[in-house]
Amino acid sequence: MMNFIPYSKQNILDDDIEAVVKTLKSDYLTTGPKIKEFEEALCKYTRAEYCVAVSNGTAALHLASLVLLKENDKVLTTVNSFLATSNSILYVKAKPNFVDICEDGNIDLDLCEEELKKDSSIKAIYVVHFSGLSVNQKKLKELRDKYKVKILEDCAHSIGAINDGVKAGSCLNSDISTFSFHPVKGFTTGEGGAITTNSKELYEKLLLLRNHGMKAKPEIGPWHYDMTELGFNYRLTDIACALGISQLNRLDGFLDKRRVLAKRYCEILEKYDFVKPIYDFTNESAYHLFVVNIDFDKFGIDKKDFVTKMREKNIGLQFHYIPINKQPYYKDLGYGTENTPMMDKYYKEAISFPLYPNLSIEEQDYVIASMLEVLDV
Ligand SMILES: *Cc1c(COP(=O)(O)O)cnc(C)c1O
Repeated sequence: MMNFIPYSKQNILDDDIEAVVKTLKSDYLTTGPKIKEFEEALCKYTRAEYCVAVSNGTAALHLASLVLLKENDKVLTTVNSFLATSNSILYVKAKPNFVDICEDGNIDLDLCEEELKKDSSIKAIYVVHFSGLSVNQKKLKELRDKYKVKILEDCAHSIGAINDGVKAGSCLNSDISTFSFHPVKGFTTGEGGAITTNSKELYEKLLLLRNHGMKAKPEIGPWHYDMTELGFNYRLTDIACALGISQLNRLDGFLDKRRVLAKRYCEILEKYDFVKPIYDFTNESAYHLFVVNIDFDKFGIDKKDFVTKMREKNIGLQFHYIPINKQPYYKDLGYGTENTPMMDKYYKEAISFPLYPNLSIEEQDYVIASMLEVLDV
């Protein structure tokens, strides 16, 4: 049998290891030269003006919410994301309003517009470029201009994605973008995250909040600092940044490999009418995930059994995501009864196939063959 095939994993080469070792042997393990270098590289890559590297993607969302939102602000966000997206709204005592998805897994921006028309007190929209497919940037711009709402792009899946010429994280049509560099994401720093923005004001607030809200005051003394905000320690180490710089250099190569494999999945699956990628192949997706819908009803098997049987074949399928509004914690807050027919259907049928840069053709073929075997086609 094949070795275990997860849905995603990192790709580390000797160059990455050497970069980390070099920093380990240097004078600075944290708050040294690598953080600035990493942030500048991320600005260059995303085309955003400012970048703040932080300890993980959730910390990025937390700081972003602190600078964008006030208590009780209403925020439209997707039911289909990792918990951290909407949790960050709760961290600052603001109010997530969950919106249904489109067929491609992304938040339905037309539904967002309906909500904005009905309720002028909505302050922001948090979108996630789900699976690496950017939401429609034209529509995002339209909503931002017309309804004067703040926009956050959660780019945890989508570094390298593009839509209508707009690069994910460039913040061309948003106030802030956030990233995660967890090992399953586009590239990794172990744990890590970043925030991009084109606003100098937001940038300066974020810098302050990353480091306890304290500012050095050398004019008073080399030891002196003032604390003006209630900040955190969300710093990213130079060790992680060194890995990040090395990985970011390889990102376009990773994206090429993901796209080649995604295209191959699409071509193979075309033969079968019971399984369908959630969107047609596009070079604009960063393909963090490769999600398919399977018509399980047709085979008298449910998704859970399918996943269990694939696990027995050493294939680690995943589901992205359990609707956030249906989590026990959210139910206790009164969520969970929103009308989300698209998400309900998606929850029944969708599954993420393994996809990562060094997934081999043999492994990919094995995934397909195993699917056919389990479904008894
Ligand atoms: C991974 C992820 C996060 C959280 O990032 P961490 O680095 O794990 O804290 C946030 N949002 C989305 C959509 C993610 O996939």
